[in-house]
Parts: sequence; structure tokens; C-alpha cells
Amino acid sequence: MDTVTATRRFFLKQLASLSAMLTLSIPAKNVLAKGKTALTDVRVSESNNDHTRVVFDLSNEIDHSIFTLASPNRIVIDLKGVRKSAALVSDENKTKLLKGIRSAVRKNNDLRIVLDLNSKVRPRSFILQPDKQLGHRLVVDMHATSLSPTPIKTSQQQRRQKKKEFVIAIDPGHGGKDPGAVGRKGTLEKDITLAVAKKLKVMINRTAGYRCVLTRDTDRFVVLRNRVKAARKHQADLFVSLHADAFKSPKVEGASVYALSLNGASSEAARWIAHKENSSDLIGGISLDDKDDLIASVLLDLSQTATIQDSLELGSDVLKHLGKVGKLNKKSVQQAGFAVLKAPDMPSILIETAFISNPKEERRLKSPKHQHKIAKAILAGIKNHMKNQLV
Ligand SMILES: [Zn+2]
Repeated sequence: MDTVTATRRFFLKQLASLSAMLTLSIPAKNVLAKGKTALTDVRVSESNNDHTRVVFDLSNEIDHSIFTLASPNRIVIDLKGVRKSAALVSDENKTKLLKGIRSAVRKNNDLRIVLDLNSKVRPRSFILQPDKQLGHRLVVDMHATSLSPTPIKTSQQQRRQKKKEFVIAIDPGHGGKDPGAVGRKGTLEKDITLAVAKKLKVMINRTAGYRCVLTRDTDRFVVLRNRVKAARKHQADLFVSLHADAFKSPKVEGASVYALSLNGASSEAARWIAHKENSSDLIGGISLDDKDDLIASVLLDLSQTATIQDSLELGSDVLKHLGKVGKLNKKSVQQAGFAVLKAPDMPSILIETAFISNPKEERRLKSPKHQHKIAKAILAGIKNHMKNQLV
């Protein structure tokens, strides 16, 4: 075990006892025996109009994660290895804060629960062990956030809230003074990435409910951090960086997809915390600036872990579709510490569309027809991923 892992485990252990105070729960250790845990009941209660408690009754101990999302406000809870036997949709499950409860099976084995909210809340979750009367329980408490008054909405925000748009940031790699990799025939990576990105933008914007933002739409140089910043400014739900690979040997070929590695994430977390006063929107609207560094680092760590998991799932959906239009260099999603993938709360992938250093692939990358195919495959992968998300 390396020091980082050891330190993280130490923090988690220390914080497990405090989990009721944390916004995100600490996954329970050594959880499930084989076989599925059943969600047997859901109970909702309300006090003082500004506090709602949701209790999930479970047949066994579980591992769960929880995070909040805005526009519209909701809490997402993933229950690992849980099947549903309780009805979640009921008029009794409505309070001043809670609009309703939805659920869907995820990754065949997990249950995702979405608590739709009438306003922004601060959720806290904790696990209760069986006592004389009741069994295993997951408790989610929510209070209306009184810290930030409801801002006056612009008409654009109102439109957005009425019909949630899914915003995809497409990042054409390189640009301007940075040409990226260069093919044997002189093809520049920066031109290919921009051409594919523009095609993708048209396709995405033609899809109902989807909107595309490009981190650059001309041949200009953009530093890596500003690419992520631009995506965050547009409240992007996904970030997809486009590239074309190069290698010494002209024979190497095929596409690959990358997500962030945890090592890359932990060094980045330190940077975020150092600037946490500027990061009030960090984790699904939960501010870190009132937390001390230790708590902030754990919250960030858990958010980033969930984001990486989502990025890996998105990556494998995209990879599957890229495999239909060309060769794959790596059949599974790779992980690395790329700077553009480091937003802690936005699933992000980097796609090496093909090898520009391979003459055959260079030719294909230059062809508008093939660029169109690549763009189509990426969008198909994104759509596939979204179909499996209940958010
Ligand atoms: Zn590149």
C-alpha cells in the first residue's frame, strides 16, 4: 500500500465515525455477503417544514454513495447490490422539500435512487445498525439551505430549469501554436480534432435535449485548465477531449479512450483545496469553503471517485461504438493523469481517435466522411451512457 492510499484509508477510518456529519457518506467496509440485499421499505417524515428525513429499510448492511445535482435540484443515491421490493412512488413520499422519489436498476446489480427536490438542500446520510425493533437502515436527512438566498433567476435559467438540457463539452485537442502530433503526410492533430469536434457539435445540437459547447472553435491555443474552466462555466454534464495519437512505429494503430487515474486525482485534489475559497460550486453545489482541509479533502476524494467511475462507464460506451468504425488500440478504458480530465464533478474522457502516425489512419482521419463516422460513434456512445443513467 502506498502512502497516499494509507493516508486516505486513515482519513476514511477517522471520518467513518463522523459520517453522520458529512454530506457524502463513507462506504462501509467488508460489506455484502453474496446475494442481494432487499430494499424493503421507504419511510418519509417531515418536521418544522424545513427538515425531511427519508429512511430506507434494508435486509442487510449496504455500501452506498450519495451526491446532489442542481437544475433541477435532486439527490442521487446509489445502493450497491440492492434490489427493490418496496414501492417508492407514493403521495406519502412528498414533503415541502421532497417532490418525489424515482429509482432504476444500474449496472445490473445496483439500485439508483433519485430524490427530486423542491429546493436546494444540504443532505446528510448515515447508516443505522439493527436494534431491537428495526433492521439495517440508511437515513438521509435534508435541510433547506438557508445559507444562500434564492437568487433571482434570469429567463435563461428559468428555461433551463423547465427543461433540463444535457450539456456536452467537446474539447478539440491542441490548437494555435501547438499543432499536436504530425502525420507523415503533414496532417496536424489540431486540425483533425477541430474538424471532428465541429461535426460532433452539429450532431449533438440536432439531438433533442442535448447542447454542445466547444472549448475552442477556431485554430487557437487554449491552455488546458481554461478548457476545463470553459466547460464548467457552461455547466457541462460531460467533458470529451479529442486527440489523435502518434508513435515511433508507423504500424501502431487504433483508438483508445482515457479516464483520470486516482493518482492524478489526488494531486489535483490538493490544488483544489488550496484554492477552495474560489470553489464554492465544487461538489454538486456543496461548498467546501466552510470545511476544514481534512474534511474538504475527503469530500473531494469521494466526489472524484464517483466521477471517475462515471467517466470509466462513459469511456467504455464510447469505446464500444468506436470499435465499430475503426480498429481499437486498447479494448478497455485506460487511466492516466491528464490535466483536462481533472474536474472533480464532471465525468471526463479523452479520446485518441486513431494514430495520425499510421499512414492508413492518417488518410482516414483526413477524410470528412470518416471524421463524420467518428463523431457519430462518439455521440452514440454518449447516448448509450445517458440511457443507463438515471439522474
Ligand atoms: Zn493530442
